[in-house]
Amino acid sequence: MKLLLLGPPGAGKGTQAVGMAQSLEIPHIATGNMLREAVAAQTPLGMQAQAMMAAGDLVTDDLVIGMLMDRIASPDAEGGFILDGFPRNVTQAEALAATLNENGLDAAVLVMVHDDDIVRRISGRRTCPNQHVYHTQDNPPASTDVCDIDGESLFQRDDDKEDVVRNRLEVYRDQTEPLVAFYRYLGLPIHEIDGVGSMSDIQSAILAAIIE
Ligand code: AMP
Repeated sequence: MKLLLLGPPGAGKGTQAVGMAQSLEIPHIATGNMLREAVAAQTPLGMQAQAMMAAGDLVTDDLVIGMLMDRIASPDAEGGFILDGFPRNVTQAEALAATLNENGLDAAVLVMVHDDDIVRRISGRRTCPNQHVYHTQDNPPASTDVCDIDGESLFQRDDDKEDVVRNRLEVYRDQTEPLVAFYRYLGLPIHEIDGVGSMSDIQSAILAAIIE
């Protein structure tokens, strides 16, 4: 199964994708996570992406498309995958369609959340260096600012600060949201899921929609 997760930053796509990947036994491919790893490792790609990410802008297509194509060509992605954070614009969607050819995507899940809730969610988000994600109110770690899974210190991503979040939302509206119409036009099933509620209820709604 090849699935796409769509929705604004802060909709909870990453959290939901982790659960979906476990249930469906397919890899979760998140370009944001891959780019943050590249920045942390200071690879040539990471060094080029760093400033664009810190500003909340999209990393240029030439960098992201190559990275994603390599990832979906790896053996563990042969049986399908969940794409989270890619494509972010029509150029990326077209590159993906050209690569997948006739064995294209099976469905998209659109996680919907209002803007007010997005700012609250992102500003409360805390992350560990291994990309485990918490929320100060909705999903706090057992002990403040320490990751339950690996004991690392939690921090706020630079691009989760309020002014950068506002830019990320604008970029989403301008460049990424039009993909909903793009995929509808192509006839891809798009399951609209209310992203407000408990993590497990949202997860059940997503799984019910795609397995139906
Ligand atoms: P995310 O974790 O998906 O919110 O992504 C964090 C940041 O990584 C974004 O604000 C972009 O700067 C960059 N990024 C992630 N995925 C892409 C993509 N497909 N195209 C361009 N930039 C991306």
